[in-house]
Amino acid sequence: MSSDCLFCQLVSEGDHVRKGEGFVAINDINPQAETHLLVLPERHVPTFREISEFSDDEAKRMLEFVAETAREQGLEDYRVVVNVGEGGGQTVFHLHWHVLGGRMGGLPG
Ligand code: 5GP
Ligand code: ZN
Repeated sequence: MSSDCLFCQLVSEGDHVRKGEGFVAINDINPQAETHLLVLPERHVPTFREISEFSDDEAKRMLEFVAETAREQGLEDYRVVVNVGEGGGQTVFHLHWHVLGGRMGGLPG
């Protein structure tokens, strides 16, 4: 847990759409699509660049959690987006997967 990280705080507050073993899904506060969820690892990993900090098993379970979250929200067709670094549109430096479904605005970030 990083004390100055917004998403670490949201993880600990427990107001989740969905909770898995080591991962949570929350609604994006500023949705860019009809359904706009964020899937986050509970553990603080700043960006997708550090993906190798997850074990093979954790990385697989994280991706499965993204797919299961979308399915549970009734989405069959959707986008999964990860913004990486400031230049990639990332504004919160705790790894997260955007899940966007239904009517779309622009890409997040
Ligand atoms: P990024 O730009 O880093 O890829 O995505 C960060 C996302 O976090 C944005 O889509 C933004 O709307 C969302 N966000 C920022 N602050 C909050 C917050 O306090 N609560 C929630 N649920 N989402 C937030
Ligand atoms: Zn964090």
